[in-house]
Amino acid sequence: MDLIQAAYFVVAILFIVGLKRMAHPTTAKSGIVWAGWAMVLAVLVTFFWPDMHNFGLMLLALAVGSVVAWWFAVRVAMTDMPQMVAIYNGMGGGAAATIAAVELLKGAFAGAPGLMTLAILGGIIGSVAFTGSLVAFAKLQGLMSARPLLFPGQKVVNALVLVLAFALGFSLLLNDPPSVILLFFLLALLFGILMTLPIGGGDMPVAISLYNALTGLAVGFEGFAIGNPALMVAGTLVGAAGTLLTVLMARAMNRSVWSVLMGGFGVEQEAGEVQGSLKPIDVEDAAVMLAYAGRVVFVPGYGMALSQAQHKVKELADLLESKGVEVRFAIHPVAGRMPGHMNVLLAEAGVDYDKLKDLEEINPEFPTVDVAVVIGANDVVNPAARRPGSPLYGMPILDVDKAKNVIVIKRGRGKGFAGVENELFYADNTRMLYGDAQSVLAQLTQALKKL
Ligand code: NDP
Repeated sequence: MDLIQAAYFVVAILFIVGLKRMAHPTTAKSGIVWAGWAMVLAVLVTFFWPDMHNFGLMLLALAVGSVVAWWFAVRVAMTDMPQMVAIYNGMGGGAAATIAAVELLKGAFAGAPGLMTLAILGGIIGSVAFTGSLVAFAKLQGLMSARPLLFPGQKVVNALVLVLAFALGFSLLLNDPPSVILLFFLLALLFGILMTLPIGGGDMPVAISLYNALTGLAVGFEGFAIGNPALMVAGTLVGAAGTLLTVLMARAMNRSVWSVLMGGFGVEQEAGEVQGSLKPIDVEDAAVMLAYAGRVVFVPGYGMALSQAQHKVKELADLLESKGVEVRFAIHPVAGRMPGHMNVLLAEAGVDYDKLKDLEEINPEFPTVDVAVVIGANDVVNPAARRPGSPLYGMPILDVDKAKNVIVIKRGRGKGFAGVENELFYADNTRMLYGDAQSVLAQLTQALKKL
């Protein structure tokens, strides 16, 4: 038993080191490997617990789980990563809830109300994270409409289901027949579904991050309830990191986590009047503009991810640098549809980390930038965010409009995630270069080579 506890101690250290390393892009990959080894060790140790049996079933579950996870992980497209994270989170929450259900049904907490309370809390939170994540997955995967699903009296119904689930949960402290345990879990699972229905597809990453935090919390509670240190440590770490990430994401969108959960974002938007006109530019003229620039900043957004244009941007950036142009990339914290989306894509294309500049760093520099090239970004560069009354008001934005010249690459007049018209596109110093990002960037590179 001492060896098992010592192994759990090593697991805890590996998790903490892994998490620490995930904090920086250069060490993030190795951080995942460290945490992965922690997981392997934690799973191995389980086999050595005293009185452990059912080895055949355990091995079968491990084999099935590993093969399915491996299969999906190697095939998933970068743009589908949020729903992949959602489904993995959901499984964690489901596993925590299952531990609670099994222990409660076994009557494992007779005479231990403190531990039972923890198991009940973990059960409810894990169930919500499980079904909530499944709905998030279905919305993002296009298995159901990504739009907020609203109905009259929704908030009252949701509140009633939650209150009832808690009431039933705590009634288990007095009397815990299997039928009540079952009903308690059904209500908790139902609440996870109801809570996620009003959340729109675009807000889903924030919800997924929250469910991730809830999964951590549920796992932590179950760890304390059954006295398993690996679950305690892993759960607490995931819960804390997930909560921080959720708050940071909501802040970068200038929304409260509460407003995301209340849902309905994107259903009603202001009509918005924008002065000026859209002024198109062709590839040849844009190439000339870039060739004669001293400083160029690329501003990637969700459209770059959709078009998978990261390699073409890198090619163009390299060519510009070979011509003596200084090139930087401006990264908004919520550009794209998941945290770090742009960093991951540009790193995949081989762009140096020190060329990626975050919002605080690059904003003061825009007035000295000769050409800012916006690649499928919209909300994160919309100056409307500075104007009270706009749905974007208060969202920190990249001050692209302050650059000397702006080229916006997008396919047409499509709006951004928030559905708000973008004043930047109508500005005097902005030219619109229409087309799919990947093909436009390839054409730009060709045109530049001819100059
Ligand atoms: P937006 O979603 O605001 O805009 C994307 C733009 O890309 C559209 O205007 C679209 O215009 C264009 N586009 C789409 N496909 C292509 C293509 N193939 N080639 C060229 N352009 C294309 O993106 P941003 O990155 O600016 O903003 C992200 C938004 O997502 C923010 O509102 C943020 O709050 C939200 N969000 C982000 C999360 C995160 O964690 N990163 C989480 C949740 C929400 P067109 O159709 O005309 O081509």
